[in-house]
Amino acid sequence: MQIAVTIEEVRKQVRAWKQEGLTVGLVPTMGYLHEGHTSLMDAARENDRIVVSIFVNPMQFGPNEDLASYPRDLKHDVELCEKHGVDLVFHPSPEEMYGGEFYSYVDMNVLTQELCGLSRPVHFRGVCTVVTKLFNIVTPDRAYFGQKDAQQLAVIRRMVKDLNMPLTVVGCPIIREADGLAKSSRNTYLTPEERTAALVLSRSVFLGKEMAEQGEKDCGKITSAMTALIRKEPLAEIDYVKIVDADTMQQVEEIRGAVLGAVAVRIGTTRLIDNFMTGI
Ligand code: AMP
Repeated sequence: MQIAVTIEEVRKQVRAWKQEGLTVGLVPTMGYLHEGHTSLMDAARENDRIVVSIFVNPMQFGPNEDLASYPRDLKHDVELCEKHGVDLVFHPSPEEMYGGEFYSYVDMNVLTQELCGLSRPVHFRGVCTVVTKLFNIVTPDRAYFGQKDAQQLAVIRRMVKDLNMPLTVVGCPIIREADGLAKSSRNTYLTPEERTAALVLSRSVFLGKEMAEQGEKDCGKITSAMTALIRKEPLAEIDYVKIVDADTMQQVEEIRGAVLGAVAVRIGTTRLIDNFMTGI
């Protein structure tokens, strides 16, 4: 497995693969890898070669967010990538990605103005910009994203469609701990007491999905039941509990077609997200 820190190294390797007629899958990550990430690598095996990027992207963090404390463990990440058959790890420095003068952004309306976009106003601009850069550097045939970050996946799908980017976006299911908590690099911030409290996210998501699947169409009723469940936990502070159209991320009142039920909840100082899809 090759570890590249410069854009030029990646370009050179990918060029060689493409000359051989090989397909390339890209898994963008911020590192501190877990089974959620490795499930994307396993899905990317449908390509001849797999590239995993490990880059904590400063541009997608707001001024009061956890950029400085975001967990990092490159040695462990590299071992996991090796174990899952990754061919190239791209681990650039912030200078390599944004060094010198940098004036260009990829931004989006509508989809980014709901859910996480409300409390994280610069987040999706940072995500769209870095993912565009990674697509331009790696030129993958397919790129893999987790349903765990459902709004991010919807935003990337829209960006690729709107801007005619020549690749296929593949969405992969949420990987959970045995007790239901969605796996996340940020779970490491939780104290044992908060770890138990964090189960309200997955419990509320399971409740919402079950209500929808048993025929409840009224989104207000579903989100009220989810909210009531979360409010029972004293350590939980709700950012949002919403049901939105699965493509546009706009709130809906009634379940008709594919919808996303999404929650963001602060457990202590840690902000966690979870979601369910229904009506697909
Ligand atoms: P991150 O390193 O948190 O930026 O995540 C990198 C990619 O892994 C994103 O596409 C995430 O949606 C995906 N991912 C993170 N956690 C999970 C999970 N528990 N299940 C599935 N995909 C995940």
